[in-house]
Amino acid sequence: MILLQDVKKSYFSKNNTVHALKKVNLHIRRGEIFGIIGYSGAGKSTLIRCINLLERPTSGKVFVNGIELTSLSEKELRKSREKIGMIFQHFNLMNSRNVFKNVAYPLRGKGLSKDEIRDRVFSLLELVGLKDKAYSYPSQLSGGQKQRVAIARALANDPEVLLCDEATSALDPQTTQSILRLLKDINEKLNLTIVLISHQMEVVKEICNRIAVMENGEIVEEGNIVDIFSNP
Ligand code: ADP
Ligand code: ADP
Repeated sequence: MILLQDVKKSYFSKNNTVHALKKVNLHIRRGEIFGIIGYSGAGKSTLIRCINLLERPTSGKVFVNGIELTSLSEKELRKSREKIGMIFQHFNLMNSRNVFKNVAYPLRGKGLSKDEIRDRVFSLLELVGLKDKAYSYPSQLSGGQKQRVAIARALANDPEVLLCDEATSALDPQTTQSILRLLKDINEKLNLTIVLISHQMEVVKEICNRIAVMENGEIVEEGNIVDIFSNP
């Protein structure tokens, strides 16, 4: 489903070079919830952003669903990216627009009728449990509700993969649990592949099937959650 081959990413600036990803190889299977953990600065965020090419690898190849994204032009990429949803730590909602418009945003310019967009948006809001907030603005919502809106928006184009970049890090423990349950629910209902990065061990333990541990731009351990966390 997702394949990273010898992916390297370096950030070059005038005074120094940071090798954020050294040589990462990774295979994530369809339908799994895959977790990436590691301390701050380990390269998790760079890695997840290389999956949808928000960051272009310095070298190496990225395949999603059999397509080599690293060989595509920006224009071709736009189409492939629709099949890869993403959510963020700080939700990234458009504050001047209500929930309905935030969720409808990715559906614009696709030749859908107003009614089709309406139906789609409300079915997404139902999925995330926020139908009654369609006309609220982000500032009127709790953190957990904002993340639910972001999840609905990320699913608008019916993606095959959902990337979660520290998606629960700004939330309290109870809200974190409810968002994790929602992600698990969506994973099962839609057979959606989920890649989740977190610095919180308990988040990853809670819902991931397999995980990779990152350190200094490298994957230092990878495997089933039970194998990695059971002490010999
Ligand atoms: P993590 O998500 O695990 O905290 P990151 O991928 O954000 O790690 O960062 C990995 C390394 O790359 C860090 O040393 C960070 O400072 C550096 N880095 C990340 N983004 C940039 C950037 N845009 N420019 C320069 N250095 C960056
Ligand atoms: P309009 O033409 O209706 O005003 P724009 O295309 O100008 O809409 O976008 C309005 C704002 O939304 C801009 O600040 C833009 O950066 C932001 N934006 C665009 N696409 C996204 C997206 N996928 N997720 C979050 N914000 C976005």
